[in-house]
Amino acid sequence: MQNTFELIDKLEKERILSREEFIFLIRNRTPEAAEYLFEKARKIRHAVYGKKVYIRGLVEFTNYCKNNCLYCGIRASNKNADRYRLSKEQILDCCEQGYGLGFRTFVLQGGEDNFYTDDMMVDIITAIKQGYPDCALTLSIGEKSRESYQRFFDAGADRYLLRHETADHGHYSRLHPPSLTAENRQRCLFDLKEIGFQTGSGFMVGSPYQTEENLADDMLFLHKLQPHMVGIGPFIPHHDTPFANEKQGTLELTLFMIGLLRLMLPSALLPSTTALGTIAPDGREKGILAGANVVMPNLSPRDVRKKYLLYDNKICTGDEAAECRMCLERRMNGIGYEIAVDRGDFINA
Ligand code: SAM
Repeated sequence: MQNTFELIDKLEKERILSREEFIFLIRNRTPEAAEYLFEKARKIRHAVYGKKVYIRGLVEFTNYCKNNCLYCGIRASNKNADRYRLSKEQILDCCEQGYGLGFRTFVLQGGEDNFYTDDMMVDIITAIKQGYPDCALTLSIGEKSRESYQRFFDAGADRYLLRHETADHGHYSRLHPPSLTAENRQRCLFDLKEIGFQTGSGFMVGSPYQTEENLADDMLFLHKLQPHMVGIGPFIPHHDTPFANEKQGTLELTLFMIGLLRLMLPSALLPSTTALGTIAPDGREKGILAGANVVMPNLSPRDVRKKYLLYDNKICTGDEAAECRMCLERRMNGIGYEIAVDRGDFINA
């Protein structure tokens, strides 16, 4: 087995490692190896995307959810969650405000809420694409049938985010109720890609029971899927879930995984997530410096922000959309990067 520096060189060159090599590298990482990795990650990111940071306007349009993921604050059985839904008009208002602030991608994210039928989603997608033909529309509304995904795509949706959460079936079943399976989640991802969506997957870092073996399997799964986007962030406990007393994921390991992802998938769109900004004041800046190239400021109306609580202490729940946008611009400029005002599509490098 080579040492960690040699394995980082190998990942850069070959864009893949064996399962054993990933496990060794993750298990034996050091601050020096991490710096070495981040430098390479930045070099690759600069070669493909320059110093641009893409912004995605996130509209959290419903916190109703039929599922009971053990980690999630908006799980169906959390009776303390204060539920809300946005109307089509409210969603369009968010887009209007976002467009004025320079957003050219809107992300509609929500719990799995059957109130919004496929017909309703098609109507909302059509209205957004008619109103903003120069913008990309991303959906993040969970597991659906292939037919539903096809209808959303045909209506004009461009991208879909669905984290695989963990590639290991046994680990998946410890984070989810029996009604949800890794198999179906992964089926959804391959369907989305085949249909033609720019597809995003991802996982939580430091979720309960997670091992280095699981993380290695996540890397191998992502290599097989070859997604356009990968969203990763630390697991953060929510007080009204079965995982209330579990430990949160670390900034350090999340950054290391971002660096590995940049080397394995040089062209990927990698967000520096709100969860990263929640566990460290400069978490999102550090994510960018580890190889990420996307940030997702919140465009949801201020009165519902505190209700979309997937985990405790979520940041930016009291700010106006304009404040979030300006704050991120300052943060990115502060580390020598600039916010891009364009759709920020995947570049096949
Ligand atoms: N319902 C859609 C789905 O299932 O993909 C989208 C919304 S879901 C709440 C978005 C993501 O939030 C999940 O993929 C999960 O990784 C993340 N998430 C949920 N609870 C979390 C927690 N406690 N800590 C960190 N991330 C969490």
